[in-house]
Amino acid sequence: MSNKLTQLARKSVQELTPYQSARRIGGTGDVWLNANEAPDSGHYSLDCSRLNRYPEFQPEAVINGYANYAGVKPEQVITTRGADEAIELLIRTFCEPGVDSILINPPTYGMYEISAETCGVNTIKQALDANFDPDFDAIKARLDTVKLVFLCAPNNPTGNLIDTDKLTDLLIAAKDKAIIVCDEAYIEFCPEASQVSLLQDFDNFVILRTLSKAFALASLRCGFALASETVIGLLSKVIAPYPVPDPVAQIASQALTEAGIAVMQGRVTQLNGMRSAFIDELNQLQGVEKVFPATGNYVLAQFNDSQKVFSLLGEQGIVLRDFSSKERLENCIRITLGNATEMNITLNALKSVLS
Ligand SMILES: *Cc1c(COP(=O)(O)O)cnc(C)c1O
Repeated sequence: MSNKLTQLARKSVQELTPYQSARRIGGTGDVWLNANEAPDSGHYSLDCSRLNRYPEFQPEAVINGYANYAGVKPEQVITTRGADEAIELLIRTFCEPGVDSILINPPTYGMYEISAETCGVNTIKQALDANFDPDFDAIKARLDTVKLVFLCAPNNPTGNLIDTDKLTDLLIAAKDKAIIVCDEAYIEFCPEASQVSLLQDFDNFVILRTLSKAFALASLRCGFALASETVIGLLSKVIAPYPVPDPVAQIASQALTEAGIAVMQGRVTQLNGMRSAFIDELNQLQGVEKVFPATGNYVLAQFNDSQKVFSLLGEQGIVLRDFSSKERLENCIRITLGNATEMNITLNALKSVLS
């Protein structure tokens, strides 16, 4: 590749290391427990009679279906190409490149920082506290220097949730200063922990959601931001003119019917049941130092030798997500909850590697 051509790209792009998604990292095997995907795919019908027409800007059936499911007004919902696009949209809407900053709380989901980087926006890091909870006092002290605060609950990968009273205090402190975002990509696995009711009182609050995890539609690329009408109006100015392909809208609206939601809830019940059984087993294994408090469809565990676990399971075709190079996650591996067979295979492999 021509070096000169590369130098035509923006400096921040030249220096960028792209997000190491599970798909980009790749791997070989039969048991894929590295991307927090659901273990089963649903069945949907597709009407191809309108593919010659541009789609609706924000398909009504999807917006109404999600608003109804989430318990908010349709005016408080925007649908995006996965929650990832909503992250970028928020940064592009609220942050002046080269001037403004976002605040993140590591260790957490990697896309906040990468999206900021691609937009030329600075990232301020306020580490999670000793219990891997957000340090709310420290965040409050930095509100004058940031436009957007990204919280994640259940936090990926540590599983921590957020205290509603502390979040409420933060929202009050951030009034007219900063937007507080709570990424609830995994909230279906612990719906009682949703902060959605705070949307009523705070117009600077945004919740991110997705159909990629509990709804088992990662391939669809369908996510949502829930917020005040003012924020939704601003995001609507920045988003692409036809952001939602019609086949996506058709499938999403089927997933959001009463029947579709019931299927999702059945999956959640099953996965949550498997999760507690799996954690009990993990805790009995020698060589497992710590199991983090799991609240989503994944379990983060610290081993005494994660490299050995990761590579030996990899050799058996079990693909996990290695977090050992991340600060404070030494020897940690994240294991997505798969189906019963996959969990058995994984558990047996762990037993044989660790014995
Ligand atoms: C998976 C994930 C997302 C991205 O979801 P998409 O809708 O597939 O883009 C966002 N946030 C967190 C914390 C995630 O784990």
